Amino acid sequence: MKILVLNCGSSTVKYQLLEMPAGDVLAKGNVERIGESEGILTHKTADGKKIVLNEVFPTHADGLRRVFDLLKDGVIKDISEIKAVGHRVVHGGEKLTKTCLVTDQIIKDIDDVYPLDPLHVPAHVLGLNVAKELLPGIPNVAVFDTSFHQTIPEYAYLYAIPYDLYTQEHIRRYGAHGTSHQFVARRMAQLLGKDIKDLNIITCHLGSGSSITAVRGGESVDTSMGLTPLEGLCMGTRCGDIDPAVLTYLGRTKGLNADQLDELINKKSGLLGLSQKSNDCRVLEEGVEQGDPASIRAMNVFNYRIVKYIGAYAMVLGRVDAIVFTAGIGENSPYVRAEVCKHLGLLGVDIDPEANDCHGKERKLSTPASKVDVWVIPTNEELAIAQQTYELVNA
Ligand code: ADP
Repeated sequence: MKILVLNCGSSTVKYQLLEMPAGDVLAKGNVERIGESEGILTHKTADGKKIVLNEVFPTHADGLRRVFDLLKDGVIKDISEIKAVGHRVVHGGEKLTKTCLVTDQIIKDIDDVYPLDPLHVPAHVLGLNVAKELLPGIPNVAVFDTSFHQTIPEYAYLYAIPYDLYTQEHIRRYGAHGTSHQFVARRMAQLLGKDIKDLNIITCHLGSGSSITAVRGGESVDTSMGLTPLEGLCMGTRCGDIDPAVLTYLGRTKGLNADQLDELINKKSGLLGLSQKSNDCRVLEEGVEQGDPASIRAMNVFNYRIVKYIGAYAMVLGRVDAIVFTAGIGENSPYVRAEVCKHLGLLGVDIDPEANDCHGKERKLSTPASKVDVWVIPTNEELAIAQQTYELVNA
C-alpha cells in the first residue's frame, strides 16, 4: 500500500512516498520557496536518481502537482496508486490528542489551534485542503507532534501561573517532537527484546530544535519543551529555559516589544547567541577542537543542559533502563554524546569510546559494565507517520 507523507510549512512541502507496511521509501523530496519568484523542487527516487527543478510554484497545490508529475515518471503509473496521505501536524492543542482521520471538523479543530502555533497551523490547514483537492476520495490522516505527550500528568504539564490561564487560555506544557520520541523509544524496546511496558527510557532528540523526554512504560511522563518548542534545552538559535524576568527586564530597560523579544529568544539565542558565530554544532565542534573560547562557551552550555535534564528525568522515572540519542546532533556527534555521558556516572552510565565513534547509525554505545543501556537510534518521523497512517486506515 503506497502512502504519501506530507510535511507542509509556510513556503515548503516535504514529501515521502512509502510502500507500507514494508516501509520502503519509493521517492522523497521537497518543494521550497513556494510563492517566491523562483522555487526549487528536489526529488530523489529509490534507484538513486535525483532531479532538481528551478521553477515558479505560486501555491502549495502547484508544487504538489509538479511532485505528482515526477512520481508518475517512473515511480508510479498513476496517482490512484496512492492509497492514503499522512500529514505531520506540529500542534494538536488539547483537543487533538490522537492520530486521526481528517474530516472537515478536524481541519477546523486544527485551525482553532492557531493562537498556540501561528507558525505552523496555516501551512498545515493548507496542506490538508490541497491533499483533499488533488487526491479526492482517499483517506487523509493527521499525526500530531504533541499527541505522544498527552500522557504527561497534570503536575508536570501545568505552569505555576494563575490556573485560569490554563482553563481559559490553554497555557500548559504540550511538548514537541513526540513522533520522534515515540519512534525511538519503541525501537529501543525492540532492540532490547523487551516489552516497552516494562521499560523506563530517556530519549534525547538533539537537532536544530532539541528536546528530552522521560518515557515510562511507553508513555511520555515529562518532556523539556513547553507551550511552544522554545522551552528546555539550549538549541541552535532558541534559548531554552530562561528566567521569565529576563524578558520583562529587557522590555522595560531596552523597550523591546513582544515581537522583538520573540525574535531574540527564538532566532538569535542558543548556540548562535552564545557563540556569536554559528548555530551549527559542526562549526562549533571544530572551534572547540581549536580551543576557540566562544565555541567552548556555547557547547558547554548546550552539553550541561542535556546532563541536567537527564538527571532530572532519572529522578522522575525512578529507574533508567536506557538512554537514546537521536536527530542531527544526537546521531552524528560523538563529542556531544561523550561530553554528556561522562557526567552520568551517578546513573552507572559507561560508554565505549570506540562504539561512540559513529555517525547516523543504530548502535549500542554502552559497555557491558554500564548499568544503563545507551544507544544511538536514528529517528525516522516520516516512517512513523506512514506506520500510524497505515494502522489507522487498515483498522
Ligand atoms: P532539524 O530537523 O531540527 O532541522 P536536524 O535533526 O537535522 O535538525 O539537526 C540539525 C543539527 O545537526 C545541526 O545543528 C547540525 O550542526 C547537526 N549535525 C549534523 N551533522 C552533524 C555532525 N556530523 N556533527 C555534529 N553535528 C551535526
